[in-house]
Amino acid sequence: MKAAVYYRANEPLSLEELELLEPQRNEVTVRIEAAGVCHSDLHFIDGLLPHPTPAVLGHEGAGVVETVGEGVTYVQPGDHVILSFIPSCGQCPYCIAGRPNLCTVGNRAAVRGTLLDGTTRLRKGEQEIYHMTCTSCFAERSVVPESSLVRIRDDMPLDRAALIGCGVMTGVGAVINTAKVQAGSVVAVIGCGGVGLNVVQGASLSGAVKIIAVDVSDFKLELAQQFGATHTVNAATDPDVVGAIRQLSPGGADYAFEVIGRPEAMRQAYDATRRGGMAIVVGLAPAGAEVSIPAASFLQEKVLTGSSYGGARPRIDMPKLIDLYLAGKLKLDELISRRYPLDGINDAFQALREGEVARSVIQFQVEG
Ligand SMILES: [Zn+2]
Ligand SMILES: [Zn+2]
Repeated sequence: MKAAVYYRANEPLSLEELELLEPQRNEVTVRIEAAGVCHSDLHFIDGLLPHPTPAVLGHEGAGVVETVGEGVTYVQPGDHVILSFIPSCGQCPYCIAGRPNLCTVGNRAAVRGTLLDGTTRLRKGEQEIYHMTCTSCFAERSVVPESSLVRIRDDMPLDRAALIGCGVMTGVGAVINTAKVQAGSVVAVIGCGGVGLNVVQGASLSGAVKIIAVDVSDFKLELAQQFGATHTVNAATDPDVVGAIRQLSPGGADYAFEVIGRPEAMRQAYDATRRGGMAIVVGLAPAGAEVSIPAASFLQEKVLTGSSYGGARPRIDMPKLIDLYLAGKLKLDELISRRYPLDGINDAFQALREGEVARSVIQFQVEG
């Protein structure tokens, strides 16, 4: 099968033929139909975060089940699925407590670049190729743990379903699951890329009365307005982001989301939050980055928290997002700026790097 292989930071992905081994116990082979091009993949490609190499990246995908390994009961061949990039074991304390986005089992596999049993299914000749987050969807097929799959309605287009696998779940979930934004609130969103637009959209779904979108790109700020932003701040021309948010929302925002992964922006989100409000960090920071806040501000009783994968319980939340889309209440079509074949993946990353797109989708050949 054809796959895009990551060998080294700051080099293009290499398009190659790989061998995909059979699924083992509790594993499933999925034919990938669409994969989103996300900033988290770019973090690895640009060397901001370490990853075992060589590896097939890609963590925002959807496809059709082809074959199932021994013991698989949740899906059968022909089922349409979204890949969840945090597999949940169902047995650790986090999974049992209903917080599978914090499952430690998947995390260990993700760090090692393997599947859950510590081994890999990708080969180039004799060479072992690593997986990313047990998903590796920049390839025509992927072997994934059964626990990484979310079965979805057949009438949901798979290119838009793919986006739910990371960007939409992470953004909308941060608002609905993590922050639990109350109707009538004022929400600020710093960073309006693929995830940030979904924070804006989540705030709109939650009934926020004022949604202040901040970005350095007028293109993204215009998109943010389509997704429900009531006010925009271009941080390129108006660098006093905190002042601008506080001017629109005297006393500060009820909730401020950071959706970039930069310590300065995290601090801005905290400073833009009112007393007793909540600042939520959604962005993935480079390894080693630190953020500081004024210690005296603790008495303002602000809550500063992170949100991982939108606090998702994937098999509950993702089908709901699909229902919202098919009911015309969730925007997905507008998220897709461009579509590329797998061969065009390096162009897709370059466009993302240059801030030209919200989301690009790699679209695979549809067979059979
Ligand atoms: Zn992502
Ligand atoms: Zn678990």
